[in-house]
Amino acid sequence: MIEVKNLTKIYDSKKVLNDISVDIENGEIFTIMGPSGTGKSTFIKSVIRLIEPESGSIIVDGKDILKAKSEFEIQNVRKNFGYLFQEGALFDSLNVWENVTFGLKYLTDIPKEKYIRIAKDKLKLVGLENIEYKKINELSGGMKKRVALARAIAHNPKYILYDEPTTGLDPISSDIIINLIKEMAEKLKITSIVVTHDVKLALTISTRIGMLFNGKFIEVNTPEKIKESSIKEVKDFIETSFIESK
Ligand code: ADP
Ligand code: MG
Repeated sequence: MIEVKNLTKIYDSKKVLNDISVDIENGEIFTIMGPSGTGKSTFIKSVIRLIEPESGSIIVDGKDILKAKSEFEIQNVRKNFGYLFQEGALFDSLNVWENVTFGLKYLTDIPKEKYIRIAKDKLKLVGLENIEYKKINELSGGMKKRVALARAIAHNPKYILYDEPTTGLDPISSDIIINLIKEMAEKLKITSIVVTHDVKLALTISTRIGMLFNGKFIEVNTPEKIKESSIKEVKDFIETSFIESK
């Protein structure tokens, strides 16, 4: 499990994350929902220490990644994570299977001969077949997201972090990704943290939702309870998003 305690991150004297605490249980899909610029990506990057928070602890299976002293120790915690970046971040100069297996040499001892087999297996899990040798610029936006997802699960992580997984996708591709996130959680028993401003996504996939607003979780609850929230900012956020999607 992941225990976040009193996490604070300051940019230019602004507390983007202000003394945040939350426990994420094994097997759950925990969604951090909130408007743009509210610190969602900052949160998810802190979890694998891509940025350095000012204070707090992030304890992953008993080990505080913020207290890890060497790159080796940090890497040891990171091995447990898959990360689907907001930007997708595939390498155009590499083909599909090279992209999917890119992290394996850093994260595992798996010999290179096995990479193509792993790439095929993971691509199949995300519904893509016979595209191992394609170039990234030959793929649609939805396919790129799926390749990025195959890469995120290539080293069999226990946890996966999704940053805005549906942003920029058409509704059909978006639904495919939503289903895949659920499938990854169910089939592979991956514990998931999803970051999104997409209310539909949050309400559809989450075990629990944490509404992040002005550096704080103003409500952490099941989707059913969040829908009926009595907190003004939560109600407004949900209503506005449904008006926008009409
Ligand atoms: P979200 O993912 O919710 O849209 P972010 O976590 O990306 O929000 O950013 C939260 C706030 O922190 C924003 O106001 C953003 O401008 C600011 N911020 C993010 N990264 C940096 C940085 N490297 N330097 C300064 N400010 C930053
Ligand atoms: Mg973001």
